[in-house]
Amino acid sequence: MTYKTHLSTGLLFSSIVFLVLMDIQYSPILILSLAISTIIGSSSPDLDTPTGELWDKIPAGGVLSRLIKPVFIGGHRHLSHSLIGFVLFAGLFYLILSLIPDLPVLHATYFLLLAYAIGYASHITADLFTEMGVPLLFPLGYHLGIPPIKRTRMKTGRWFENLVVYPVLTLALIVTIYWYISVN
Ligand SMILES: [Zn+2]
Repeated sequence: MTYKTHLSTGLLFSSIVFLVLMDIQYSPILILSLAISTIIGSSSPDLDTPTGELWDKIPAGGVLSRLIKPVFIGGHRHLSHSLIGFVLFAGLFYLILSLIPDLPVLHATYFLLLAYAIGYASHITADLFTEMGVPLLFPLGYHLGIPPIKRTRMKTGRWFENLVVYPVLTLALIVTIYWYISVN
């Protein structure tokens, strides 16, 4: 999946959980923090792609990505696209959050961690539908996918993703946000 599709997927799932399923009074700062945490979570699994779109968006990203690459054993879609990677990255995000001395909202840490986890999980879930699949059970090398037959799955960045998947997800996101605004 491309970066924009991962962002739409993450924000859609996050808005369903926070705006539809949970009944919380949100301040603007909390909404913004949840959105940023979701975006970071949605982006994290592809940090293992040195040539990825994400790195192009960061100043000196090309150099940075090559420095970081040895951390991700085996290259793209390995550790960071697995259940172990999910737990490790969420733990790292929690650690970073706990280092911020005064989060603006009480219990925000857990909400932000949840937003990050939703973004991350939605990324891995979306990649399950692509031709390459996902090594969910890393270090076992087997790639899982939906549907199980590889050639019936989507190719990243092709017309089906750009003209069907991405617009439908983005529309669903807009509808969810519109619904939340209209009932509150
Ligand atoms: Zn990915």
